[in-house]
Amino acid sequence: MRQSQLFVRTSKTSPKDEETVNAKLLTRAGYVEKLMAGVYNYLPLGLRVLRKIEQIVREEMNAIGGQEILMAMLHPKEIWEKTGQWKKLDVLFELESRTGKEYALGQSEEEVVSPLVMKRVSTYQDLPLAAYQIHWKFRDELRSKSGLLRGREFFMKDMYSFHEDQKDFERFYEIVKQAYLKVFQRAGLVAKVTEASGGAFSEKISYEFMVLTDAGEDDILYCDTCEFCVNVEIAKQKEKDKCPKCGKGKLARATASEVGNVFDLGQKYGKDFDLKFVGRDGSREYPVMGCYGIGISRLMGVIVERFNDEKGILWPESVAPFQIHLIDLKGASAEPVYDELTKQGIEVFYDDRDASAGEKFADADLLGIPWRAVVSPKTGTKIELKNRTSEKTEEIDLEGLIKRFS
Ligand code: ATP
Ligand code: MG
Repeated sequence: MRQSQLFVRTSKTSPKDEETVNAKLLTRAGYVEKLMAGVYNYLPLGLRVLRKIEQIVREEMNAIGGQEILMAMLHPKEIWEKTGQWKKLDVLFELESRTGKEYALGQSEEEVVSPLVMKRVSTYQDLPLAAYQIHWKFRDELRSKSGLLRGREFFMKDMYSFHEDQKDFERFYEIVKQAYLKVFQRAGLVAKVTEASGGAFSEKISYEFMVLTDAGEDDILYCDTCEFCVNVEIAKQKEKDKCPKCGKGKLARATASEVGNVFDLGQKYGKDFDLKFVGRDGSREYPVMGCYGIGISRLMGVIVERFNDEKGILWPESVAPFQIHLIDLKGASAEPVYDELTKQGIEVFYDDRDASAGEKFADADLLGIPWRAVVSPKTGTKIELKNRTSEKTEEIDLEGLIKRFS
């Protein structure tokens, strides 16, 4: 992609109405644009990042047998009444049509997916199964001041699993937890698995995946020696100091952002919608369900919170909008390099604008593409390569560049 043709420009100043680093940098760099509090438009480069994260999540969900679907966002009131959430769930957006019919906007999709799946399950032999989607969610959040970390409209992966019994659910729960750790690792993050309360209607413990960041809205206690981690919300008094798991480590308090979580839903939805299957002994039973969320747009914000410096963003390679930011300086042309790299399938963002070196480098630092490749009269046929995280440069020829990035 040519930078000269991109209709979005970078900005030297931070938006005045943003408080967090992720919102400031993503807006300045032209990745996103705020439409109103908690609602963002994704611009060409921002969409590329969102799609990269989405694809990592998709691959890991497919790898554990998840089947991707796309469910409706506009829901009839009746399904929310069935689960007792209509006029009750504080974050549910409820609206009325001109004929007086009432709807909800999807904030989670148990109400849709449970009947959708169980209609097609007749016996235990059809189980287990897991369906997921990657789609927008709407929530009437009270505060939305954290940029992409808390939207009123946000992008989420939500998966739902169906099992013949608790034991089979527990087996799959463990598999999903491992897949989640892989997702966050591939996105360049270290997530801590935190025990938390089960939420609105579950007595059970749920697990949250937390990334340490000052911009987060959760407080956790974690052990400095073993992997024990707990949300302060449910930490017991005696756990405030010494680790209850290993007995050796000390607990440290930190601010974190929840990038994903997994829930044991038990038989609630089977019961609410009267969905049964024929079990092994011939009796009709409710399925045991699990649900599993990953905040994809929140992840994008958290990555920026974790990887930035005074000049801009430092994207991990796996989620960067492009692999290489190619720049030509006055008196040289990178056209043949751009053509060749593109032909080889390498993702290149080419700054072909008529601008000063200073301006181009400042933009490159702000945008945060991992590798900067400069063609200038000084370097001749060689290309000067530099990583965004380092001050060191190296000279490489086109062939070497292609080899390195394909
Ligand atoms: P939180 O405690 O942060 O409000 P939640 O417990 O309501 O999160 P879930 O309903 O389980 O979250 O949603 C699954 C995932 O979606 C969360 O782990 C988080 O990453 C993301 N998420 C939830 N609410 C938002 C939001 N308002 N904006 C962006 N991402 C969100
Ligand atoms: Mg919430």
